[in-house]
Amino acid sequence: MTDFREFELSRRVQQAIDDMGFEEPSPIQAACIPAVLRGVDVIGQAQTGTGKTAAFGIPIVEAATPDMTVQALVITPTRELAIQVAGEFRKIGKYKRVRTLPIYGGQSIVHQIRGLQQGVQVVIGTPGRIMDHLRRGTLKLHNLKTIVLDEADEMLDMGFIEDIEAILKETPSDRQTLLFSATFTSDIKRLALRYMKSPEHLTVNRGEVTVPLTDQVYYKVLERTKLESLCRIIDSEEISLGIIFCRTKRGVDELAEALISRGYLVDALHGDLSQAQRDRVMKRFRTNDIELLIATDVAARGIDVENVTHVINYDIPQDPESYVHRIGRTGRAGKRGLAITLVTPREFKLLKQIERETHAKMDGRDVPSLEDVAERQAEIWRSRIVDAIQEGGLGQYRAMLGDVIDEHDPIDVACAALKLASANDTQAFEQADYDFGDTGATPGMVRFFVNIGRSARLSPSDLVRVIAEEAGVPGQTIGKIDIFDRFTFIEVEKESAPFVYEALRQSRINGSRVNLEPAKPRTRSR
Ligand code: AMP
Repeated sequence: MTDFREFELSRRVQQAIDDMGFEEPSPIQAACIPAVLRGVDVIGQAQTGTGKTAAFGIPIVEAATPDMTVQALVITPTRELAIQVAGEFRKIGKYKRVRTLPIYGGQSIVHQIRGLQQGVQVVIGTPGRIMDHLRRGTLKLHNLKTIVLDEADEMLDMGFIEDIEAILKETPSDRQTLLFSATFTSDIKRLALRYMKSPEHLTVNRGEVTVPLTDQVYYKVLERTKLESLCRIIDSEEISLGIIFCRTKRGVDELAEALISRGYLVDALHGDLSQAQRDRVMKRFRTNDIELLIATDVAARGIDVENVTHVINYDIPQDPESYVHRIGRTGRAGKRGLAITLVTPREFKLLKQIERETHAKMDGRDVPSLEDVAERQAEIWRSRIVDAIQEGGLGQYRAMLGDVIDEHDPIDVACAALKLASANDTQAFEQADYDFGDTGATPGMVRFFVNIGRSARLSPSDLVRVIAEEAGVPGQTIGKIDIFDRFTFIEVEKESAPFVYEALRQSRINGSRVNLEPAKPRTRSR
């Protein structure tokens, strides 16, 4: 399946997908969309970052009728995910005007009740808040056609099984049940056996993938400062020819515009360009007229260029195979290339999956500081200057200088020329994105509460090891660890905290389910 058009979606849904800039279905979408449209129950095995939300969102919106009752209910483990899924539904349902409402704890219930009373077709919520509305009779599920358990493994790990079962019992028995989960554990199997009707188990068939001769690194970035992080990474690398990959056509255009306005030599390539435009862009790339080509996966597939020194995954690829495809664009002809992947906290697990399945060894790097960038740039300029002197042919530039050379100190002249040539506007930025509030931590740190302790045989070295493995955070960024009988407090450096939070929010240590959340300022209030 290489085109959304093959699903024969209605015009309004197809238009919305086009607007979102999706060029082709991701593997999990190619597998799920037809099955969900057929009305069967589906178990979709996929991580965040694979496009799983649209895999159920597109067919649900497609099937929605104008009837203003709740037709689909999506249950998510966290409020962040509920908000995100609701956002994706809103985009898919933009032209069809499908009404969606996220309901989660922590937001005024009155506001949500009003929203529900106005009539909505798709509700996305966390288990506790859904239960609350069911008890109050403000959420009615008698007309429900489809229920989605999103990130089901995480919901079970958080202990939501009873709520989920109670919610399922409130829904019509002829409903369609969709279950999405990164892992397929025995608990998930049990849930599926009990509540699903001959589900199709769809996973993305990956086959063997081999990685070319390419050094691979990843940078941990935050969504809000991703562009700035990219600029620093580009500035600290010596890129003669690079390809930057974005997920969507829109993403390509936006990034190209942002980089051009910052003075980078880039151009954009994606499926909306005419053949003539594509040829023009490719010519610029081949002749080194631009140093970076920004492309979608689809657009990059047809290109064959030697000497690509860098492949940068600005957006993480949606599956291991596409990762291998992308990075195969560099390291040709026996030359080593460098593949760089930017990863946000929520995508960290997908990165680890890609690493596992491609048997790749990716080293984690920190986004360079302003000082690092300045030092690296100085090195690059010094070596460029020496090269230019050795190359010769400077006569015409000497002529350009004219009298200046007689009237000023030649060193000042050289410095001024360098100042003009190297004008660089990399800005300082705050890494803070996730706001954990006051967690009662030492300054510069975030303190987390972990729901297990000594009675689960937890030791500080277990915690440090799990954090290093799962969140890619080195031991020295971990601060004080206080292990009590039934729970634990741990401090982590602020910059690493979002990664630790997303990776360990729900996980397992020594076989015990772990739940980690920002600590409250005062220990005793627990
Ligand atoms: P998810 O795995 O659902 O969290 O999706 C990750 C990101 O991929 C979201 O920003 C989606 O909007 C985006 N996305 C989903 N499907 C596609 C697609 N077919 N092409 C490009 N981007 C997509």
